[in-house]
Amino acid sequence: MSKREPQQDYDVVIAGGGMIGTSLALALAPLGLQVAVVEAVSASTQTQPSFDDRSTALSRSSQRLFEALGLWTEIAAAATPIRKIHVSDKGRFGFAHIDAREQRVEALGYVVINRVLGTVLRDALDRAPGVHLLCPARITDVRLAPERAVAVVDPDGSTPFEINGRLLVAADGANSNVRQLLGITAQQSAYGQRAVIGNLQPGIAIDNIAYERFTPAGPLALLPMTDDRAAFVWTVSETDAERVLALDDHAFLQALQTAFGYRLGAFSKIGKRAAYPLTLSKALRLTATRSVVIGNAAHGLHPVAAQGFNLGLRDVATLCDCVSDALESGTDATDIGAAQMLDRYAEWRRSDQKKLVQFTDGLVRLFGTQSRPLRRLRNLGMLGFDFIPGVRDEFARQTMGLAGRLPRLSRGVPLR
Ligand SMILES: Cc1cc2nc3c(=O)[nH]c(=O)nc-3n(C[C@H](O)[C@H](O)[C@H](O)COP(=O)(O)OP(=O)(O)OC[C@H]3O[C@@H](n4cnc5c(N)ncnc54)[C@H](O)[C@@H]3O)c2cc1C
Repeated sequence: MSKREPQQDYDVVIAGGGMIGTSLALALAPLGLQVAVVEAVSASTQTQPSFDDRSTALSRSSQRLFEALGLWTEIAAAATPIRKIHVSDKGRFGFAHIDAREQRVEALGYVVINRVLGTVLRDALDRAPGVHLLCPARITDVRLAPERAVAVVDPDGSTPFEINGRLLVAADGANSNVRQLLGITAQQSAYGQRAVIGNLQPGIAIDNIAYERFTPAGPLALLPMTDDRAAFVWTVSETDAERVLALDDHAFLQALQTAFGYRLGAFSKIGKRAAYPLTLSKALRLTATRSVVIGNAAHGLHPVAAQGFNLGLRDVATLCDCVSDALESGTDATDIGAAQMLDRYAEWRRSDQKKLVQFTDGLVRLFGTQSRPLRRLRNLGMLGFDFIPGVRDEFARQTMGLAGRLPRLSRGVPLR
């Protein structure tokens, strides 16, 4: 099941070794802790739900985190810089844009394929001191006591066993079973949309520009990739999804071309497609006794602004700051997983999570509406974006993940 035999006592037990759980384990490793990552699906299978064929736009703060963990050089080798973001509203004149040069940064973000990022993270996990990957295995039950959390681990095909952690972290995704076992409710509302993803060859070089085009059916993003290809994330209504997915490659490319237009020339050579149902989900609490909920288990966002993983990495960085400070102060009262530490974490994360939920949900609703006054408002918004001083800079800071009070790793500062 794992290269290292499971032990009974850990400092931190992480449920879920997807993009967020793995990043957290790697970020905690320099602190000299014993960390267990319990992951249901092996990274080498095609069905791994986190490290799949999606492309992720990493923000500046995410890039800095990976830099601080010593992983950026490896990730950068497979990543494509975003130097401009171009936002347009189908059927309207004008567009809004953000330019890396204007923001005085080398890139606004970077695009990387999840499967590639997963390979880098899982390889690093194998080398990380003190980190034990238990995979394939699921956490099926949890007991919380004042001094420790006990997790029941069910390995594929062998006898379940228990492990203890001073801190238990639920990083098992939007439908988190561990969040439920902790008694934390999540508010969930389906968007009635699916995101269809894949990649294609544009007729005109995409030139490190990320495009976000709002259409009546939903937003359509095209992101720059290596080899002059473009990754697309096309939101279609649930009622139209089956029809769109059943189209053959030629008909699908034509439909996508109609939605996007010819700004990038004629589309061709489409790759494999996949679809994701879209739901907004928010955990009503972030902590329980000796435990904390992070990543998609805490907040599942619409992919419209490409922020879900970036937001989750700020959860990771903040949790690491709180754990590191608790270790440095070195008294039992500030022991990792103690209520004081968990309260500090929850307080720190509240505003960033709330803002991003409101921002992404607001964008989907504002651009999805057919109401005339709201359409007028969004036209004014697009104009204001380019002409009202400060609006664009503030938007760029949010997009790059640089707004608000940032924890050390999100600023690129190693913990040790
Ligand atoms: C179409 C699309 C495009 C996106 N694009 C971007 C983007 O460009 N930028 C961005 O920042 N974000 C993006 N996101 C969001 C991003 O993909 C998610 O925020 C991110 O995957 C969350 O990672 P996670 O580890 O929290 O959850 P998940 O990726 O869901 O991983 C959870 C892991 O937990 C495991 N697991 C589940 N239950 C258990 C259990 N009981 N025990 C053990 N293990 C368990 C699963 O096998 C899985 O590996 C996008 C999302 C979608 C749908």
